[in-house]
Amino acid sequence: MRIFDPHIHMTSRTTDDYERMAAAGVRALVEPAFWLGQPRTSVDSFTDYFDSLVGWEPFRAGQFGIRHHATIALNPKEANDPRCAGVLDVLPRYLEKDGVVAVGEIGYDSMTAEEDTAFAAQLALAITHELPALVHTPHRDKARGTERSVKVVAESGIEPGRVVIDHLNEVTVATVKDSGCWAGFSIYPDTKMSPPRMVEILRQFGTERVLVNSAADWGRSDPLLTRETADLMLASGFTDDDVDLVFWRNPVAFYGQSGKLELAETEAGASFEGNSILRGGS
Ligand SMILES: [Zn+2]
Repeated sequence: MRIFDPHIHMTSRTTDDYERMAAAGVRALVEPAFWLGQPRTSVDSFTDYFDSLVGWEPFRAGQFGIRHHATIALNPKEANDPRCAGVLDVLPRYLEKDGVVAVGEIGYDSMTAEEDTAFAAQLALAITHELPALVHTPHRDKARGTERSVKVVAESGIEPGRVVIDHLNEVTVATVKDSGCWAGFSIYPDTKMSPPRMVEILRQFGTERVLVNSAADWGRSDPLLTRETADLMLASGFTDDDVDLVFWRNPVAFYGQSGKLELAETEAGASFEGNSILRGGS
């Protein structure tokens, strides 16, 4: 089985996780830029983070034969902090980098006016830089947040097939399917979407234009829930080809629209800027 996790925050995970993911069949992933839990106080801490998403993390993933890609954006939560407004100005140079396959995560956290501005500005950047867009939906008031996100996407003029609206559930999936956007689902260890609920949605809504991810980050999460969901699909009567479509060909088709996916075998390099994954460097 080959797995492409289309949304996982490896910055928050250990090297052991990369090793376990590789053993479970994960061969490629996309790491979206997001909120780190600790509020950032300047644009410079974003640029160091973005540099890590296109430098250190691809190196670390490569040690286990995993292809690492990134999406870059000012996340919805920090779009509300005036100290972070300047991040929008540095995005264009990151969006042109190798391995940056979309603008994201963008969208809504609390649906404020500041979030509206950042969301629209970054959809415009996706159009200018000919990249797909990854849209996060809020955990609170998800139905209204999803409907409003679909509206903003339509108003932006971006082709809906170049947008994934993520963190969906039974309540929000139909709205996104009707919009022509891709439907993203994050599988969590407790609450929200679980493997059995995901398999039921796939049965009802089909396997086309669907991305299933672990969204693993610094919160309670599990980077192997992609594999667990794939195994449950097989146990529930889906075929190997269905699993390959959902967990490999769909993410390749979606992020492939960037023209920047790199899926050839990785070569483990000895070091990155003088640092290896051995504790203490060298
Ligand atoms: Zn995320």
